[in-house]
Amino acid sequence: MSEKIRNVIIIGSGPAGLTACIYAARANLSPLCIEGFSAGGLIPGGQLMFTTEVENYPGFVEPITGPELMARFRGQAERQGTELVTADVDKVDLSARPFKVWADGQLYLAKTIIVSTGARANYIGLENEEKLKNRGVSACAVCDGPLFKGRNVVVVGGGDTAMEEATYLAGLCPSVTLVHRRDEFRASKVMVDRARNNPRITMKLSHAVVDVLDASLGKVTTVMLKDLKSGEVYAQACEGLFVAIGHTPLTELFRGQLDVHENGYLKVKPGTTSTNVPGVFAAGDVSDWVYRQAVTAAGTGCMAALEAERWLAANDPH
Ligand code: NAP
Repeated sequence: MSEKIRNVIIIGSGPAGLTACIYAARANLSPLCIEGFSAGGLIPGGQLMFTTEVENYPGFVEPITGPELMARFRGQAERQGTELVTADVDKVDLSARPFKVWADGQLYLAKTIIVSTGARANYIGLENEEKLKNRGVSACAVCDGPLFKGRNVVVVGGGDTAMEEATYLAGLCPSVTLVHRRDEFRASKVMVDRARNNPRITMKLSHAVVDVLDASLGKVTTVMLKDLKSGEVYAQACEGLFVAIGHTPLTELFRGQLDVHENGYLKVKPGTTSTNVPGVFAAGDVSDWVYRQAVTAAGTGCMAALEAERWLAANDPH
């Protein structure tokens, strides 16, 4: 085979992938990053490309926009010596070394791989929800909640994330309406009780959000709720809609090759980024459904690069 064998290929270019690039480049590993098109979108850079202001990434006294933050990650990765390829990976073969990665019809070979393909937030699927994303519709209370301080908001979902987001938002907003499609919650009892006992949270069970208005004004003014038992549809005024109906990890490429948890997230050995395949590491949201923050993703990206470097030193000392 005539293709060059790379020390490390990093798949994905969110905070995890680009931090792995920075560390791998500084360790003289000449990393190749296949950026991918963000979480189902049209641009590289991960989920932060779809957020507005980021106020919780350490080091920035003033808020920075998601795209600007990712441009800085990317610039730093490139400046340190990362080669970036803007393409989606189509296929991988991790059954033998060197590992094989195909992107845009091109085959790339690597001694180690860092998977940082991330996850995609699930949305309800309403036309106006799409139009009002980042204009009042959000899938991350920790990221966007402070922008809704003093305003009334609606949270959709019945899992731990919905409980956590509703409770978090209740610390900022005078009223939070939690809308869930069933009478029972999927969330753990302790988190449901915490939300139930919060006087600022009202629960609407067996309800669905069937529309969000007002796309013509470019902001959220109202959600249309449907009582799933009576069939009644009515309007509720609010300025923010937080959709907390789960995330989908982007792991399809690795199905049958890397071990996954029941919920589809990649398995790593506790306290490490090592997958079940020696030389393949996973970082960021693709293996984390609990913290899901840019800063934690960046932290595990750093870990993955350090582990890849150590793995190469032990297994491929040339
Ligand atoms: P989840 O447990 O999958 O819950 C998703 C919720 O969204 C469910 O209540 C589901 O309703 C609802 N839903 C799904 N699709 C919907 C749709 N199209 N329209 C309306 N509602 C819809 O997801 P999650 O809450 O994000 O939690 C993911 C994992 O992270 C879980 O394992 C959770 O325990 C964990 N987590 C843990 C913590 C913590 O411990 N601090 C915090 C957050 C998350 P149904 O119930 O009817 O299916």
